[in-house]
Amino acid sequence: MKIVVTVKLVPDTTADKRIDPATKRLVRTGETVLNPFDEYAIEAALQLKEKLGAETTVTVVTMAPERGKEVVRKALAMGADDALMLSDPGCEGSDVMGTAYALAGAIAKNGFDLVVCGTQSTDAITGELPGALAEFLGVPGLTYVRKLEIDGTTLRAERETDSGFLKVTTGLPAVVSVTKSINEPRYPSLKGIMGAKKKTIAPLTLAELALEHPIGSGGAKTELVALTDPPARGKGKVVEVSSGAEGAKVIMDFLHAKKLI
Ligand SMILES: Cc1cc2nc3c(=O)[nH]c(=O)nc-3n(C[C@H](O)[C@H](O)[C@H](O)COP(=O)(O)OP(=O)(O)OC[C@H]3O[C@@H](n4cnc5c(N)ncnc54)[C@H](O)[C@@H]3O)c2cc1C
Repeated sequence: MKIVVTVKLVPDTTADKRIDPATKRLVRTGETVLNPFDEYAIEAALQLKEKLGAETTVTVVTMAPERGKEVVRKALAMGADDALMLSDPGCEGSDVMGTAYALAGAIAKNGFDLVVCGTQSTDAITGELPGALAEFLGVPGLTYVRKLEIDGTTLRAERETDSGFLKVTTGLPAVVSVTKSINEPRYPSLKGIMGAKKKTIAPLTLAELALEHPIGSGGAKTELVALTDPPARGKGKVVEVSSGAEGAKVIMDFLHAKKLI
């Protein structure tokens, strides 16, 4: 079984974020990390591999500039077998559809039975990529998966919803995106970190994919028209009360007035 995990390079969650006013794009040259949500996708794939046996392979795929290699190494150190890295200046400015289309090209070229994605990235945070990927690959797409089992060519999953969960069964090949409740990602071991240095990170260019439609800024169907800072927060209101009960009433009245309860 060929399992592919999509991993994204994102700015460090704790780093200050800056938008370049000229390009209206997030400046991504600072400290970067493996998208934290993708650690759950890697762990889910590794647990499947452990259950399914040595014939199963886990390949991580990313669309990122060359410096993304260091981040890919973390996925390899966790236990993924190898990586495929689409690094090409022509990818710059790709919107969600362009990113999904290019990744679908790379994944189809590699071959797959199951693609596991994180639920969302921590920078663009659209959560749309997994669905778009399934569409471009022409396979079922199950998002927000919190439990995942493979039995032969049957995939059984539980999908989180606002009010509970859905039990869904589908055939492979398929794409899933997993939530943080699916597992607790492992830390890379020292042996894993050392071993990752020898694992293959295969480079891939757009020319090799020979995509039918353009990606990058020229192919983007989305245009960021304007950006503004959020309005400054007003001063908080301090209320002095003589008892907890009185304080609770003040809070309830406040929430009622705002129609929040
Ligand atoms: C007009 C426009 C221009 C943009 N220009 C750029 C740009 O120049 N550079 C840039 O980096 N972004 C750019 N973006 C943002 C880019 O479109 C999104 O980051 C990307 O499409 C993925 O969407 P997301 O991060 O919301 O993914 P989500 O749907 O929130 O992520 C879900 C999962 O998809 C997978 N995933 C997402 N992105 C990748 C990836 N690149 N490689 C592998 N797996 C991935 C991960 O597993 C992730 O957990 C641009 C967006 C717009 C609208």
